[in-house]
Amino acid sequence: TGGDSGSDTDVINPGTAPGFPPFEYTEDGELVGFDVDLAEAAIERAGYEVGEWTEIEFDSLIPSLTQGNIDLIAAAMTIDEERQETIDFTDSYYESDQAVLVREDGELNPESVDDLADQRVGAQSGTTGQDEVEALVDDGTVNADDVRQYDNYTLGVQDLENGNVDALIIDIPVARNFADGRAVSIAFTIETGEVYGMGMRQDDDRLADINDALAEIQEDGTYDELVAEWFE
Ligand code: GLN
Repeated sequence: TGGDSGSDTDVINPGTAPGFPPFEYTEDGELVGFDVDLAEAAIERAGYEVGEWTEIEFDSLIPSLTQGNIDLIAAAMTIDEERQETIDFTDSYYESDQAVLVREDGELNPESVDDLADQRVGAQSGTTGQDEVEALVDDGTVNADDVRQYDNYTLGVQDLENGNVDALIIDIPVARNFADGRAVSIAFTIETGEVYGMGMRQDDDRLADINDALAEIQEDGTYDELVAEWFE
């Protein structure tokens, strides 16, 4: 920003919201994931230095970026118009729709959103999954009292396993990750056509360099290697 007064413009401090595997999560106390590797590769390829990672709640990422506490959001964040009012996004780097995650005991086996009528439905605060939950409240399918919001989806999955919520609306690749190992399964999906971008401040002209770096990473096979490492 204009207030940077010559401080480390060559350092990019990334921020993310762990609890969203395989994009970003904590393993043995360490932050890992596809976004972590991709962001670091892009920052370095663009000729900048990877600074300190900040781990915060998803909901706090955009304020943290605009306030200058972080310089780049790498958090499987969907590029959407509302967010674009306050931040810019890099070119998209991943596509996703939403999934409805339920307990795998098969007690509730919804095939469409209509089958979620009068169920307790949750999402992580500030996400596009939450937007879907709110749409179900708006159209009268779900009661406002039955909405559950979580600081992160990992807490939501625990609540789902424990029977405190009946369904979570969550990005498909993350739903798959949880379904593989936890007592939850994907009931059906909701096509939203979302694409993820990394967020940067609107006045940060390093964005163009990060875009060039992302394009290179996609062309030279680095991107495919990361996909193979984290999704297969
Ligand atoms: N892609 C979703 C969104 O942008 C969820 C991201 C997340 O929970 N990290 O809202």
